[in-house]
Amino acid sequence: MSEGQTLSRQVRIEELASDYQKISQSLQESGLVAGQADELLGQSLQAVCVQCGLALSGSELYQLARSSEPNALPLASPKLQRVKQGYCGREGCNSFYYEIRLPLGSDVDWTGILESIASRDSDGASKGVPGESASVRSQTALGHKKRKVLLFAGLAFVVILLALKYMMSTGGLPGFQQEQKFQIDPNSIPSHRR
Ligand SMILES: [Zn+2]
Repeated sequence: MSEGQTLSRQVRIEELASDYQKISQSLQESGLVAGQADELLGQSLQAVCVQCGLALSGSELYQLARSSEPNALPLASPKLQRVKQGYCGREGCNSFYYEIRLPLGSDVDWTGILESIASRDSDGASKGVPGESASVRSQTALGHKKRKVLLFAGLAFVVILLALKYMMSTGGLPGFQQEQKFQIDPNSIPSHRR
């Protein structure tokens, strides 16, 4: 498969299993049943180590993803056992990243599916409702900021009120009283007025 026909995305090795599940999920949301999605991925998906070039097939990624499920059988392959622990499947390779590759130009909208993984990843923890936690977080941050501004405005208002009240009861602010009573300099009065 040549470069131009492949769609790729670099992911951390420990995310390979969850990314596989997300891709499978996206396919199922687009109308495939689980078995069809995994069969399609078994044929088309590949994950390749960015450092040593070791490739994992779609069906190996399927085994990897299944092994995280409750009551799953342990992985038989030492290669997949290493990948599950977050290391490259090739012993001695210290890479932390694999490249997920999908064929471009087939019936499936792989671009959209890869983008949906990217947006879910950018939520950080990739827990909860996909695509929503980020906006909720920014709304909360905005709320905090708004509350701060309101609090500051409220405090300023109270200070101004107190100052006004003080000025009305005393006829001026302490320290400013003397300066406000300006004295006329006789020299400043025009001579015809004298
Ligand atoms: Zn490697």
